[in-house]
Amino acid sequence: METIQYKCPNCDGPLEYRADIQKFGCEYCDSTFTNEEVRKMFKDNENTDLSQNIDETAGDDDFQNGNLYSCTSCGAEIMTDAETAATFCVYCHNPVILKGRLSGDYRPSKVLPFELDREKALEIFKAEMGRKKFTPSDFMSEQTLEKMSGLYVPFWLADCRTTASMSGTGKQIRTWTQGKYQYTETKEYAVERRASIVCRGVPADGASKIDDDLMDATEPFDYSRMQDFSMSYLSGFLADRYDVDKGEVFPRIREKVESASKSLLNESVSGYSSFSATNKNINISGTEWKYALLPVWFMTYKYRGRMYEFAVNGQSGKLAGNPPLSVRKLLVFAALLCIGIAVLTGLGGALLL
Ligand SMILES: [Zn+2]
Ligand SMILES: [Zn+2]
Repeated sequence: METIQYKCPNCDGPLEYRADIQKFGCEYCDSTFTNEEVRKMFKDNENTDLSQNIDETAGDDDFQNGNLYSCTSCGAEIMTDAETAATFCVYCHNPVILKGRLSGDYRPSKVLPFELDREKALEIFKAEMGRKKFTPSDFMSEQTLEKMSGLYVPFWLADCRTTASMSGTGKQIRTWTQGKYQYTETKEYAVERRASIVCRGVPADGASKIDDDLMDATEPFDYSRMQDFSMSYLSGFLADRYDVDKGEVFPRIREKVESASKSLLNESVSGYSSFSATNKNINISGTEWKYALLPVWFMTYKYRGRMYEFAVNGQSGKLAGNPPLSVRKLLVFAALLCIGIAVLTGLGGALLL
């Protein structure tokens, strides 16, 4: 499989995108380059025709499944998952981009470059997870934390046009006292709402191996910072292409659009003491799709045979994921609690005497 590597023109070291300075940097000689400079220097990488699906099954037998590539820095042959689009050579740790994986239907139109670097992501993770009680002792160990890696997750972003309508009854209630009588006046209004709503950039990830709820919990992303896709942004990160098609994510998109439209309709009703809706209708009449790569600092942790996933939004720093509870720590806590109660009961008994 053909690979792309971005190398420093000054020292031939690997060039990686650095979130902290929003530029490309060489860790060997400390040179930095802007996006424009990198695009110019490596215009061949960008210009290769990626509008067609590159046939990864072509070639000799070893490469037949397209999951084997050779590192252009050290020559080692490395296996990858079928979805991997950017990774590191396991031997020399140079960043490698697998060109064919993002060609044709798999070519993203947009990418949101990382804005939060690994150090900041780790800081957020340590601060928030450090507050959790009863986590296993090795949960915050160096060994666990070093697994955190920058991953571009394939996302479907949908622009949905909807027609929404709602009918219901609004009540206005007024009470007053006159003489020895208290009066209550109830006015009922028939409320009708009709709206055309456009929801833009409704996201759903297209990676089957990452938990949907986890990805939903890292939202929102600020799309105004999105860039036209360029391979170079992937240098120094992991990236996957989608394996869940837009048709398959549509139910998730529809759910989000319906709930956003319903809240909009509800918010538009005001001035009543109470309101109850009898009928709500949301119809999606048209959808336009974008396929983009969004940045996430991703980490897994295995405890008692189960895998726990964590993700930090690579732009906002929002953390998602729940750590496991340590069975041992919980037992110790329960035992201490029992001892505490026993002592208190003993004391109580002693006081009564
Ligand atoms: Zn260099
Ligand atoms: Zn290598």
